[in-house]
Amino acid sequence: MKNKVIPYGKQSISQSDIDAVVDVLKSDWLTQGPAVPAFESAIAKYCGVNYACATNSATSALHIACLALGVGEGDIVWTSPISFVASSNCALYCGASIDFVDIDLETGNMAATALAKKLVLAKKRNKLPKVVIPVHLAGQSCDMAAINELAKEYNFKVIEDASHAIGAKYKAKPVGSCDYSDITVFSFHPVKIITSAEGGMAVTNCEVLDKSMKRLRSHGITNNPDEMTEPSHGPWYYQQLELGFNYRMTDMQAALGLSQLKQLDNFVSVRNDIATTYNHAFANSTVAHLTQSDDCYSSYHLYIVRLTQCNIEKHKSVITGMREQGIIAHLHYIPIHLQPYYQALGFSDGDFPNAEAYYKQAVTIPLHPTMTADEQQFVINTLIGLV
Ligand SMILES: *Cc1c(COP(=O)(O)O)cnc(C)c1O
Repeated sequence: MKNKVIPYGKQSISQSDIDAVVDVLKSDWLTQGPAVPAFESAIAKYCGVNYACATNSATSALHIACLALGVGEGDIVWTSPISFVASSNCALYCGASIDFVDIDLETGNMAATALAKKLVLAKKRNKLPKVVIPVHLAGQSCDMAAINELAKEYNFKVIEDASHAIGAKYKAKPVGSCDYSDITVFSFHPVKIITSAEGGMAVTNCEVLDKSMKRLRSHGITNNPDEMTEPSHGPWYYQQLELGFNYRMTDMQAALGLSQLKQLDNFVSVRNDIATTYNHAFANSTVAHLTQSDDCYSSYHLYIVRLTQCNIEKHKSVITGMREQGIIAHLHYIPIHLQPYYQALGFSDGDFPNAEAYYKQAVTIPLHPTMTADEQQFVINTLIGLV
């Protein structure tokens, strides 16, 4: 047992996933064929949302989501400091400036109360955000109803970074329904819930936003005569209307994603079972975990514990101690504002106290559908032995 490394997350690939990719390889289209729109339709149907735009990563989906919402120089975007750097880099790609909203220590998610407070101040200073990007940490939705109320009051747009949260539910509806946001973004990186190797998706109920994102992911080019500035010259004709990118997903990736989507509910159910076992195992210990809201069903991308009784040295020794036993404990995330690149933009230690306190306590322990009961018991015993 000790010799086998237990990663914190891992994809699970079935024979039907492999067959789906091989079928594409044998077909006429490796990219820009039928698999991408089929995957988009299936995701839209799953989420109960009107439109879906597949991309080569969630990072690029976040970028074109910001652009489609008109984010540019002089604009301000807010996100959570406890996220992957992609959640905030997307604003900087657009030439906008970035700021953060502190988290709720219990859930790790952007706190709607902190958002409300910051908005009051920002309004006085005439520095309101154009877009706010809540991040559904570990697979649990943020308090989207409260965030949506604030969006209406202060007139900002909302992009949900649901990179962790496909398959999750909020108020009994799938994350991605966009009931409380303009756009929701998913990631299909292999550590996430379902994978297309690299890949992402931006979903929305707004046709204009969808059209804009679909142009931006492919050089800003349109083949649709209705969008052109003059009559088409002929069947070869296309027009570049804006400066876009090559952010397209390939058909091999889309076929893998589509095949994985069929297993999504099963993956999330197994992840919830593993999380429940952890919850019970730690119930009478000093190991706390992120609390779950009653109106959320988490997809449990990550299982994050909080070592509220440990000092910094102890916290570090728990993570290194687990790694010495072959258990790849991790930490999601280093507060973004403390990254050297962000400190150079003017952020510093002390700016977001809850995010900083969270960083000193959080540990991600392994959770993935291919994990065995024995492996999980080994993780539990090792962690309890170390704290
Ligand atoms: C993984 C992740 C991303 C980026 O996803 P990619 O598909 O790798 O670009 C963005 N935001 C969060 C919160 C993530 O976890």
